Amino acid sequence: MGEWDEIQREDAPAAAGSTRRGALLSQSNRWLALLGLGLVLAMAYVALPYGLLASSLYVLITAGAAAVTTIAILRPPRPFATTAWALIAIALALAAIGHGIWYWLDLQGLEPFPSVADIFYLSVYPLFAVALWQLGGRTARDDGALVDALIVGISAAVLGWALLIAPYTDDPDLTRLQLLVSAGYPVADLLLLPLVLRLVFLHRTGITSHSFLLLGMLAYLAADLLYAHGNSTGWYSPGGLTDAIWLLSYSLIVAAVWHPSGRVEPQTHATHAELSGRRLLVLGAASILVPMVILVTAGSETEVIRIAAIASILLFLLVMYRMAGLLRETHTLTRRLERLSRSDPLTGAGNRRHLEEQLDREIARAERNEGPLSLAFLDVDHFKRYNDTHGHAAGDALLRDMVQAWRAILRPTDLLARFGGEEFVVVFPDVDAEDARGVLERLRSAMPHGQTCSAGIARFRPGDSMDSLLGRADQALYAAKNSGRNRVIIASTRALPDSGSTTTRQGNTDS
Ligand code: GH3
Ligand code: MG
Ligand code: MG
Repeated sequence: MGEWDEIQREDAPAAAGSTRRGALLSQSNRWLALLGLGLVLAMAYVALPYGLLASSLYVLITAGAAAVTTIAILRPPRPFATTAWALIAIALALAAIGHGIWYWLDLQGLEPFPSVADIFYLSVYPLFAVALWQLGGRTARDDGALVDALIVGISAAVLGWALLIAPYTDDPDLTRLQLLVSAGYPVADLLLLPLVLRLVFLHRTGITSHSFLLLGMLAYLAADLLYAHGNSTGWYSPGGLTDAIWLLSYSLIVAAVWHPSGRVEPQTHATHAELSGRRLLVLGAASILVPMVILVTAGSETEVIRIAAIASILLFLLVMYRMAGLLRETHTLTRRLERLSRSDPLTGAGNRRHLEEQLDREIARAERNEGPLSLAFLDVDHFKRYNDTHGHAAGDALLRDMVQAWRAILRPTDLLARFGGEEFVVVFPDVDAEDARGVLERLRSAMPHGQTCSAGIARFRPGDSMDSLLGRADQALYAAKNSGRNRVIIASTRALPDSGSTTTRQGNTDS
């Protein structure tokens, strides 16, 4: 059938769209057919009287699930995380062998539990565990999903154990080995459950394939729990609904690997430690479950209380760890936001807002201390021409390279900000105009790509406002431009005559 689809699509490129769509539809609907088949077979197993036929059917369904999963891995388009699915296919094959041995022993009238079958059954778990981990895709170290999964997993495990297992563990009818092996399953489930839950918590992109896998794994865990309970209390007998739940689980896993959404790599998100309101509610509920078990069993079941108390301590530590992660994340984000809010996105220099804030502060300080403060206005010469000749992208690159080169020259206390376009301002706290000129000459000679720039410097005078200081530097810059560019000019400490033509940008407020 697969080949037929391929042939149809390759041989009839001009065929009507409906044929093409029909082929794609049948291909993308195979998961549904397989799921339906699995469910029908599971029902047939329950309906059949327990015996050779029913047990053979059971083993065949499980082996079939392993085979169909393998086919899905081998046929393009292959699912994402092929290794994970391969491990699941192996696990299903091992389960099939386990079933075979179990039924054979049982039908021979031998004791199937515990037996060699359990070795196969138990080896399924580590394979599932690695597969579930890999299916999560690449995740960040700080991702809260695993911690959250542990919190919910531990709570659920303690509750399930207290309700279903603990009351029956001192059943005198069970042998020591039986007790040990029957305890092995809940313990294996306990290890698997957090990994299943981790996938739930990572499940932010709504991948249907993952949903099927999760349901499949949950069905598997539910069947395990029922089996453990049934074995402890003696109600379990083969051929019933408990066995069918495992078959349901296999069918869901097959549906997951065949579903087209399984070919998509799960998206990783930038915010790692995210904690939505809903998840907080889930975590809160999970955290109080275990103390509630203590409360309910207080006075009667000392063993349960002891285990639940240990789990409570563990939960508490996990919650604290999670909080620490969130705090770290918040600090990182705050720092990043701060940096973003004061820098120019193109060059990384300070932006205008940052310039105004800092300049305000420096002017107040200079006024107080009567210390020197200089400010320079810089402008790239003939930048329009550069843009026209080399293109806007090259112009952008020039601005970036220029800022990088200037930064290497300036001291950390000097503030470089982009005023707009190709105009920059440098504030030199505690620096006299003549010293500032020395620095600006070096900035000028560090211009990249053979370009030049002009600059005007103004020295702070008592009574200066931000506008008056910037205005004088601007006037000096225009003087530099007018006298031939590629030079630095210091504004006169006395007010320059308002020439009109040189005050277009600041509106000179100098007086
Ligand atoms: P002058 O020597 O007189 O300063 O001449 P000029 O060409 O540098 O001055 P003008 O103000 O006429 O042109 C500035 C140009 O800068 C015009 C504008 O397209 C360009 N420009 C402004 N911002 C950016 C930017 O972010 N990237 C690039 N590539 N170009 C920019
Ligand atoms: Mg210019
Ligand atoms: Mg300009």
